[in-house]
Amino acid sequence: MGIDAARYEAEQLADRIRRALVAPFRLSDYEIGVDCAIGIAHGEDAVDDVEELIRNAQFAVKAAKSGTQVESYHTDAFTIARDQFAMETALRRAIEQSQLRLAFQPICDLASGEIVAFEALARWRDLQGVDQDPSKFIPVAEESGLIVPLGRWAMEEAARTLVWLDESCGGDCGMRMAVNLSAIQIQRDDIAAVVEGSLIRHGLKGERFTLELTESAIVSDPDRTARAMHALRSLGTVLAMDDFGTGYSNLAYLQQLPIDILKIDRSFVTEMLADRDKIAIVRAILSLAQALGMKTTAEGVETNELAQTLAALGCTYGQGYLYARPLEASDALALVRRLRAQRRSA
Ligand code: C2E
Ligand code: CA
Ligand code: CA
Repeated sequence: MGIDAARYEAEQLADRIRRALVAPFRLSDYEIGVDCAIGIAHGEDAVDDVEELIRNAQFAVKAAKSGTQVESYHTDAFTIARDQFAMETALRRAIEQSQLRLAFQPICDLASGEIVAFEALARWRDLQGVDQDPSKFIPVAEESGLIVPLGRWAMEEAARTLVWLDESCGGDCGMRMAVNLSAIQIQRDDIAAVVEGSLIRHGLKGERFTLELTESAIVSDPDRTARAMHALRSLGTVLAMDDFGTGYSNLAYLQQLPIDILKIDRSFVTEMLADRDKIAIVRAILSLAQALGMKTTAEGVETNELAQTLAALGCTYGQGYLYARPLEASDALALVRRLRAQRRSA
């Protein structure tokens, strides 16, 4: 039998089994219907290992349960699922064994040209020495729930670093720290208690922190997010809406929630000088923010020209490779020291 014929026969058989089970039957007074999910894996070519065949069938059953009820194992989709699972396992270990660290990217006040804050960004070098990409491992952390311990660690580590910067400068180092909060953390964790805990443990005021949230938090659970934001605000922290312009939420939330800063997504900023539509979007966001009394941060500022244009348009802050890439903590301290020395001699 050819491969296609064999696949067809397996699918037909699965369908017959399913229909036989689905047909309702009577049990005393009750009419009972049974539904079932069937996963099919084909033993061919590369797959000659029985254990692997069963694992593949299990992946297919999992997919069948959330989808079409009968599902065949397709290498592409399942390779991705398996890679994500492997990443999840490695990430769980990395969190437990403290293999993550934070990098710190400066944020510049566009009017004065001074660095006023750092954004804390998670970094993970795996056991093979490979630097994993945050835009891959953060989504895996979100899907698996690992973002809850990861996010708690990031908040605590950011606070610890800020105290270290202060102590190294013999007092308030003059910088704020921005920490990313995922929508999943807001859903599953008591985020205000987590932030308050770090503030108390490290003796820091809330105003030293900016918390960056995305619109997806508001879409997934508006009431809970609103409560969390008000609780964070009452701790004195500054709240920023991250990746603004890329979400699909109802803009009415902007008036109702305690938002201090809109962070304009890099996808609009980086090419705005060459693209009329993008500059129109940036202008629109800037005037929206102004009308609502909010500040703005442009992400992805890579050239001087861009920084000057944004400053002229009234954007408050800029962040991007023009100022610095995300820095190791020791380099962040060196930068703070240099800036303070310059200020003193000016
Ligand atoms: P994000 O919050 O939008 O962070 C900014 C990202 O843009 C960072 O990527 C940064 O390295 C990059 N970037 C900054 N300036 C420039 C520039 O001028 N040009 C270009 N091309 N890129 C620039 P990174 O570090 O890879 O982080 C990716 C995303 O991962 C972050 O996007 C954030 O959503 C997420 N993330 C990172 N750390 C954490 C964390 O601790 N918690 C949570 N929840 N998310 C995190
Ligand atoms: Ca961010
Ligand atoms: Ca962003």
